[in-house]
Amino acid sequence: MLSVAETEKIILDLVKPFDPQVDSEILPLSKVLNRILAEDITSELDFPHWDNSAMDGYALRYADVENLQELKLAIASDEIPAGVAIAQSLNQGECVRIFTGGMLPISADTIVMQEDTERIDDFLYLKVKPTQGEYVRRKGEFIQAGATLIKAGTKLGATEIGALASARCQTVKVYRQPKIAIISTGNELVSLDSSQPIQLGQIIDSNLYALSTLIEQSGAIAIPFGTVRDHQAELESVMQQAITSADIVISTGGVSVGDYDYVEEILEKMGADIHVRSVAIKPGKPLTVASLAPFINVNRSEDNLLYFGVPGNPVSAMMSFWRFIRGAIAKLNGANETYWYPQLIKAIAIEDLHSQGRRETYLWGTLTYQKGSPIFQPVKNYSSGNLISAIGTNALAVMRINQTYVPAGDEAIIMLI
Ligand code: AMP
Ligand code: MG
Repeated sequence: MLSVAETEKIILDLVKPFDPQVDSEILPLSKVLNRILAEDITSELDFPHWDNSAMDGYALRYADVENLQELKLAIASDEIPAGVAIAQSLNQGECVRIFTGGMLPISADTIVMQEDTERIDDFLYLKVKPTQGEYVRRKGEFIQAGATLIKAGTKLGATEIGALASARCQTVKVYRQPKIAIISTGNELVSLDSSQPIQLGQIIDSNLYALSTLIEQSGAIAIPFGTVRDHQAELESVMQQAITSADIVISTGGVSVGDYDYVEEILEKMGADIHVRSVAIKPGKPLTVASLAPFINVNRSEDNLLYFGVPGNPVSAMMSFWRFIRGAIAKLNGANETYWYPQLIKAIAIEDLHSQGRRETYLWGTLTYQKGSPIFQPVKNYSSGNLISAIGTNALAVMRINQTYVPAGDEAIIMLI
């Protein structure tokens, strides 16, 4: 049985990121939310594009007021609103009304904000002596033309998309979305689409929906390959189809030690390399991680295809995704290293946390903030088959091996999901 850290390393080492030339597409800026940038974006412009005012106020030459006893300047007749190109220079002893974003006149170097002044007729009285350069946004101060604005591997959110727009990028090159096949295995499973009443012994294939959602949340495309019976030949045929049409395959169920657990056997028969069979994690101990040789995978000719056989228990299946698969998708998708690992924070547990200490144990619950401090509330029932208990979960407490108890009021390590 491998440790969680060993398993994570094995998986990440198996993932070869997308090729920025082949596995990318050029999209309009309105379509790139949560996509990963496939090229460095260079700014063609200086930011700001020209010296301008950060305040509504008056532009002046600092040298004019530096040695004044009475801080008084003549006000020029013009005004400088935003959006007007200014050519003229400021005369000595003169200031000019300027508005936020307005272009600084030649020779002006300082802004006083309106609130720090009093205007009497055509004269301005400064209530405080300004410091040189105050409230001026200098050309190129934020970034200079030719410098890298955003690096490849960055996930695009609102700030990045806004910055790309300001740099006049109408389209950007992003990685394509990874295609993740999902296969649900189990004789007991019934598709949600089925119109038949549920028979005794049957359950709905909920993993398909939970995993599809996690896949979409991680920026990939979920491709369902259906609900398959625990029948070796049937399962093998579906696995073959999935392997040839996706970048990663996830199957749920059939990876334990039961008589109907065929996934590993089929993978071995297909010639897959099996890298992980079980992990010291709870929930989610039976986990099969395999890679299949390139010749089997026509989808990505030169790379191995990754296969994850996760347990069928609904919370275990999600656990495998949160802890291992999400990072693998991020790396495959060209995202930079910060996205490959779970986000861990510290929070106060408001109830006792218990673990047997033999496996790294993840206790699900909710993270909230009380007076700005993170607080973790665990759920009451930790059965990995109890998906209902996981409703509302947004974080899991991590109990390392040999850590059996965190008393209420103590700090715990919390994985965000
Ligand atoms: P297995 O990993 O195949 O031994 O399944 C473990 C448990 O998870 C069993 O109770 C299954 O009924 C349940 N299970 C398996 N697959 C699914 C699924 N797709 N949706 C919901 N529950 C499942
Ligand atoms: Mg099963």
